[in-house]
Amino acid sequence: MAAHLEKKPTEERNRKSTQNGTRTSQVQWGRAWEVDWFSLASILFLLMFAPLIVYYFIMSCDQYQCSLIDPVIDLLTGNKYLSDIWNKTPTLTYRAAGIYTLWVAFQVVLYVCIPDFCHKFLPGYVGGVQEGAVTPAGVVNKYEINGLQAWIVTHVLWFANAYYFHCFSPTIIFDNWIPLLWCANILGYAVSTFAMIKGYFFPTNAKDCKFTGNFFYDYMMGIEFNPRIGKWFDFKLFFNGRPGIVAWTLINLSYAAKQQELYGQVTNSMILVNVLQGIYVLDFFWNEAWYLKTIDICHDHFGWYLGWGDCVWLPYLYTLQGLYLVYHPVQLGTANAIGILMLGLIGYYIFRMTNHQKDLFRRTNGNCKIWGKKPEYIECSYMSVDGTKYHSKLMTSGFWGWARHFNYTGDLMGSLAYCLTCGFDHILPYFYIVYMTILLTHRCIRDEHRCFSKYGKDWKRYTSAVPYRLIPGIF
Ligand code: NDP
Repeated sequence: MAAHLEKKPTEERNRKSTQNGTRTSQVQWGRAWEVDWFSLASILFLLMFAPLIVYYFIMSCDQYQCSLIDPVIDLLTGNKYLSDIWNKTPTLTYRAAGIYTLWVAFQVVLYVCIPDFCHKFLPGYVGGVQEGAVTPAGVVNKYEINGLQAWIVTHVLWFANAYYFHCFSPTIIFDNWIPLLWCANILGYAVSTFAMIKGYFFPTNAKDCKFTGNFFYDYMMGIEFNPRIGKWFDFKLFFNGRPGIVAWTLINLSYAAKQQELYGQVTNSMILVNVLQGIYVLDFFWNEAWYLKTIDICHDHFGWYLGWGDCVWLPYLYTLQGLYLVYHPVQLGTANAIGILMLGLIGYYIFRMTNHQKDLFRRTNGNCKIWGKKPEYIECSYMSVDGTKYHSKLMTSGFWGWARHFNYTGDLMGSLAYCLTCGFDHILPYFYIVYMTILLTHRCIRDEHRCFSKYGKDWKRYTSAVPYRLIPGIF
C-alpha cells in the first residue's frame, strides 16, 4: 500500500536522510537479513514435509476414501507397507504432462499477449497497466493487470467445451489428479530453482535482492523481490494468480462434474463450495490491482514458498472440500445449507469491506468517509534503502479500529464455511481452516514485526490505539 506515497505532494517527501535514531532498522524493512534457528528449523521442516503432506492428503482420498487415519493404521498393523501404497499411486503420464504444459502455456499467452480490455467496459473495474508499491530499494514496478480477463476467457472456453464442443471431458482434472500433481511439482521446483539462480546471476533489480548466506532460507524465502523476464512477465503476479487461482474454480467444476457422472446429481454442499470459493476467486481477480498492495507482492521475495506453493500447495490443498465431496457426496439439510451460506457470505463481506476500507483510505490519503465519518489515523514515517523519507498513515477507524487484521478474521469465517459443507464424518476437509488459522496468525505476527521495523515508535502508538489483532477483546 505504500506505492501511492511517491505520488504525494513533494513537501511530504523528504529526500534528506533526516534521522530520528531509527534509520538502521527502518531501512531494513522487508524480508529478514539474518536467519534465526527457529526460522531455519521451520524452513527445513516445510521443505522436507510440505510435498509429503500434499501427497498424503491426495493419496488418502485416492486409496482410502479421504480417511487420514486408515493409511496409518494399515502401516502400523503391517496390513500394508509403504511400497504397497506407493505402487498403487498413479505415475506421471504423457497425457497429464501434455494437459499441464498446454494449461500453463495457455495462461502464459493470456497473461503476456493479451492486454486487458475488461477495464474498458466494466464500470468500477481497475485493469490495464497499474503501479505496484514502492520496494525497499525505492523502485515502483508497473504491472499489466489482466487476470479477470484470463479467468473469463478460460471459463468461457471451459463451459463451451462442456456444453458444445466436447473436446475433453469436464472431469479431466479429477481423472488425472495425481499425474497432474507430479507435473505441478516439476514446475514448482523448476521455477523456484530458476528464481534462485536468477537472483545470483541476472537479477531484475539487484538492489532489491536479499542474501542471508543460508542456502535453505534463500531458496525457500527467495532472493529476488520482483523477478521478471522482459518488461512484463512478473513471476509473483503470474504464479500466484495464474495458473494457481484460475485453476481453483476449474478444479471445483471438475469435481462437480465428477459427482454428476458418479451419482447422477450434484449435491447442495458441492454447489455451496463452488459458489463460496467462486466468489473468493472472482473477488481476487476483480481486485487484482489491489492485490499489488498486499503482503505477497509488497513484501515477500519470490522463492520456493511462493513458487512451489502456488503451483502445488494452493491448487491441491485449497480444493480439498470439493475432492472430499466426490468421495462423500453430502446433501445438507436446508437450515444447515442456509446457515453455512450466511457464514460464508458474512465472512466474505467482512474480508472485502475491511480490505476496501484500507484501500480507500490509502488511495485518497485519508480524504474519504469510513462508515459515514472522516477516518481517524496515526501519522507515521519510514525510510527506503536510499535514505528517502516517506510519510504514511495508519487508520484507526472502521474495521481497522476493531482489530489490526479484521480482514483475516473475515477470511477465516469464510474458510470455516467451506469446511462445514462437508459435515463431520472426516477431518480431512477441515485441514483448510486449521491451515488458514496458522497461516494468517503467523502472517499477522510477521506483518506486525515488519511494520514495527518499518515505522518504529509510530507503530507502537498504533498498537496502543488498536490493541487487538484478530478478535476484539480476545486476541
Ligand atoms: P493486509 O491487507 O492486512 O496488509 C497489511 C499491510 O497493510 C501492512 O503491512 C501495512 O502496510 C498496512 N496496514 C496495516 N495496518 C494498517 C492500517 N491500520 N491502516 C492502513 N494500512 C495499514 O495483509 P495481507 O496482504 O496479508 O492480506 C490481504 C488479504 O489477503 C487479507 O484479507 C487476507 O485475508 C488475504 N490473504 C489470503 C490468503 C489465502 O491464502 N487465502 C493468504 C494471504 C492473505 P504498509 O507497509 O503499507 O503500511
